[in-house]
Amino acid sequence: MKIAPETDASLSEAPLHEAVARNILLAEVHAWARRIGVEDRIREIHIRPMKRKWASCSSRGRLTFDVELLRQLAKKRTEIIVHELLHLKVPNHGPVFRALMKAYLKEK
Ligand SMILES: [Zn+2]
Repeated sequence: MKIAPETDASLSEAPLHEAVARNILLAEVHAWARRIGVEDRIREIHIRPMKRKWASCSSRGRLTFDVELLRQLAKKRTEIIVHELLHLKVPNHGPVFRALMKAYLKEK
């Protein structure tokens, strides 16, 4: 499916290194979404400053990632990405969610 481009114009206003980092993060999100089988559930992806958490995911498929994630190591990015994408399958943090988290993070 086609993912709508970011609507907040932040990409065009960002310095080049940040624009590159954003595109890498988006590519990582899409790669994991394919692997987890939730690509068709994603409606929007936003990367912007967040105050209290790394990311959020709405039941309607709106994913938001903290811009600070661009400065984190791959391991941390993967944890956050897989966590949010799994919420498109499992809305809570119960045993199923934790088992899937463990399986996907081990698999990579
Ligand atoms: Zn969560």
